[in-house]
Order: sequence, then C-alpha cells, then structure tokens
Amino acid sequence: MRYNICVMPGDGIGPEIVAEAMKVLGTVGEKFGLEFAFTKALIGGAAIDATGGPLPEATVAACKAADAVLLGAVGGPRWDTLDPAIRPEKGLLGIRKALGLFANLRPARLFPELAAACCLRPDIVGKGLDVMVVRELTGGAYFGEPRGIEERGGEKVGFNTMVYAEHEVRRIAKVGFETARKRRGRLCSVDKANVLDVSRLWRAVVLEVAKDYPDVELSHMYVDNAAMQLVRDPSQFDVIVTENLFGDILSDEAAVITGSIGMLPSASLGAANPGLYEPIHGSAPDIAGQDKANPLATILSVAMMLKHSFGEAKAADAIEAACAKVLSEGYRTGDIMEPGKTLVGCKAMGDLVVARLG
Ligand code: NAD
Repeated sequence: MRYNICVMPGDGIGPEIVAEAMKVLGTVGEKFGLEFAFTKALIGGAAIDATGGPLPEATVAACKAADAVLLGAVGGPRWDTLDPAIRPEKGLLGIRKALGLFANLRPARLFPELAAACCLRPDIVGKGLDVMVVRELTGGAYFGEPRGIEERGGEKVGFNTMVYAEHEVRRIAKVGFETARKRRGRLCSVDKANVLDVSRLWRAVVLEVAKDYPDVELSHMYVDNAAMQLVRDPSQFDVIVTENLFGDILSDEAAVITGSIGMLPSASLGAANPGLYEPIHGSAPDIAGQDKANPLATILSVAMMLKHSFGEAKAADAIEAACAKVLSEGYRTGDIMEPGKTLVGCKAMGDLVVARLG
C-alpha cells in the first residue's frame, strides 16, 4: 500500500521531532510492506517568514490532496509581537477548519516505566492509566451564536451559546463508538444532562447511535463527576466522548496526570478530508535546535495515523511496542530523565525506536 502524507514541520523543535517520526515511518514501512510518499508544506512562523501568512493556500491544497497530515508544532517568541490575525497559531486553527476536523482524539497513557512522573498516588496509577478522550472540536460554546458582550440594564453582560445540532452529536458519537471498538470496548459519554438542555439532546442522540454498536459498553457521566473520577480512579475509563468545552478541560486534565507532555500524541479527524496528527505539546523554543526534544509524542502520533487513517493496526502496535521497549531499557530524553537512566538526545531516541522495530 502507498500512502501520501503531507508533512508540516512548523517551528521550534517541530522540524527535529518530525524528522524522527518520518524515520520511524520509513522503517515500519519496510517491515510491513507499506510505502509512504511525503510532501512538505509550510505552516506557522516558518510560513510567515516565507510567504507573509501562517497558512499559505499551497499548504491547504497539499493537505487536502494527502491521505493524512503530520504536524510538528507552531509558534515562538519571534512571532509573538505580530498582529494576532497573522500569528503562527492562526495557521493551526485555519488548517483544522479547512479540513473540517470535528473530532479530536487525545490519548492519555502512562507508560509504566514513567510512573514516577505521574502526579497521582502509586496505588491509583498501579491500576493503569490509558484513557482516550474524544473531544468535539467545531461546535458548542466556543463557536455557538449568539455570543458577545453588550449593555443590559446599565451594566455589561457577556454571553455565549452552547449549541449542538443532532448531526453534530451523531458524528462525534460515532467516532467515540468506533474508537472504543478499536480499544477495550467501553465508551463513557460525558455531559451535564441534569442541568443543560443541550446535554439532554446530546445524551438522547448518543443513546440512539448506541443501537448500532451493541458490542460497545456505553455509560454516561456528568462532567463534574468525570473530572473527579479522572483523578480518583482513571483506570475505570477506556474512551470518553464529550463536547468541545468539557473535552478541552478533561483532555488537559487527563494529559497532565501522566506528567509527560513530550509523550502525548493526538489526532484530529473529519468526515472526508485527511486526518491531522500532532503531538499535544508546543514548539518548545527553549530547547529548539539543541537536539534535546523528546520525539516520542510525534512518533506515537504517526502510530495513531497508521491506526486511524490507514487501518494498519499491526504497524501502529509495532511502533508503540518499540517506544515502550526503549523506555524499559532505561533511555530517556531530558524532559523525562530520572536518576540512574541513560540520557539521550532527540536523534538518538529516534534511532533507538527504529532499531527496536527491526
Ligand atoms: P510548549 O509545549 O512548547 O513547552 C512547554 C514546556 O515543555 C517547555 O519547557 C518545553 O521545553 C517542554 N517541552 C514541550 N515539548 C517537549 C518535548 N517534545 N520534549 C522536551 N520538552 C518539551 O508550550 P509553551 O512553552 O507554552 O509554548 C511555546 C510555543 O508553542 C508558543 O509559541 C505556543 O503558542 C506554541 N504552542 C503550539 C502548539 C501547537 O503547535 N500545537 C501547542 C501549544 C503551544
């Protein structure tokens, strides 16, 4: 099989970590008989420097023509003083919109070897931490109308609207069920149906979609309880599906619990266009160009690409296993370094993963 991947290294450590992920894809391709063709495109600060804007038309076209998109990270102090309308982050929001990416998949998984970095008690972590948060990305309070700040009765009033149409709930619920099917078969839909009308509709639609997935065990939880349960006993969750605002908060909570920002991948999926895969961390300008970045989040992002966009689960599992092996052998980049372990740079970490794939 031949897959076309549009690669956007971006800024800061982006080019370094993306190079390692491409190396890993090359090796996994040889091993599993897959061919990858890479097209590079500009985004963020790199695109501003070259073209004056953070998301050139050519980049959107290259992404749309690809089977999947790999992004490093965007942004950095060099561009912080620019007009917000042409800042690097606008490129990121723009490409998500152009590709219609409505589902954001954020796994929070703790490799047992990195348990010391986790901020939960050892007896809680001991039960396992491997949660996938499926967040709706294009609706809800962040985009709903009416919104604004206006004068009412002699004072200012601010308001937003949390609004979801049935089709928006249905399509994200489907992603939730499909994702659960590829994992341990359990889906928890998080809402606030005891208070919010929009959540009552959410729950009704999720229940309707559930009829097509009798093999997936569905539960419902109010968002305040879900926030508590994530720190009290995260092992009870397999996949969480939730709306945009709740998902923003819960996916960050789940991520921070693992304690290792350099380890966490993500996927953003749409209906027809290619999915976009990227680490959850930023461009880390403080360590850029020094071969210090942890490439594992990006390498694990291409594992997600293989699983979710290409259906190549075995190749994805091989990458995850190789990453786990390198960690179990005691190799660490600076961000996850502990006493008694072996410190390696970005390139060496990529080489180690490649070698363990062989
Ligand atoms: P950051 O994630 O870039 O860095 C936070 C801290 O984590 C830094 O100390 C950094 O060195 C460290 N870190 C992050 N990734 C690492 C890795 N792979 N290996 C080792 N250490 C790593 O967040 P920030 O400092 O708040 O933002 C820096 C820039 O990145 C800003 O311009 C911001 O707007 C941008 N940003 C981009 C994205 C994105 O592209 N998706 C996301 C967040 C922030």
